[in-house]
Amino acid sequence: MKINILDNRSESYFENQFGTLGLLAITHVQTPIEELLNEYAIQFTEYDTVSIDGQILDIYYISNFDSSGKIEQFLSSQPASSSEATGCGDDASTQDLYFLDLGHRSLSGSDGSGTYLYYVFNTPPDRVAIRSVQDLLELQHEFRFGELAPVYKCTDCSETVHWLSVCNGTETDDILLSNIESLVRNKRCGCTES
Ligand SMILES: [Zn+2]
Repeated sequence: MKINILDNRSESYFENQFGTLGLLAITHVQTPIEELLNEYAIQFTEYDTVSIDGQILDIYYISNFDSSGKIEQFLSSQPASSSEATGCGDDASTQDLYFLDLGHRSLSGSDGSGTYLYYVFNTPPDRVAIRSVQDLLELQHEFRFGELAPVYKCTDCSETVHWLSVCNGTETDDILLSNIESLVRNKRCGCTES
């Protein structure tokens, strides 16, 4: 199986989108976050709940989280490339964080121990933002694992296109992800759309 065929252009697109949505990290931890935060004596509040696919998810809020020492544990996994560390270009050592609790995930083929999954935001995430993150992650995953190709030949006109160039696209916010998504999934360039 081909893996990680995500090109730089797509990587930057995803990074920018995640940045716009306020997503800092996706973190898997062994211990539920409440326990972990208590262990580190980090003050947190239950900020809100949000309903996604019929599930009620909790959002925890940490005001002025000190990112100097403990952040690695919480921000262990970056959403896009792993090299772009958090807080670069951001001199403040504290920031407000919102942890969306996606619950316990058991690892397939493991002893069933699993991890707790959290999305970490620097702005309060709403339902729309969370859905967008999930859609983007799914798409990113499909590129990474070679299920979708960033560059493909249009099945209508045989033009070779980059998925971010379809819909006369430039990588601006006004591209509707759902539009380009359906084009890339169907290997079309948009030439038959009016
Ligand atoms: Zn075409």
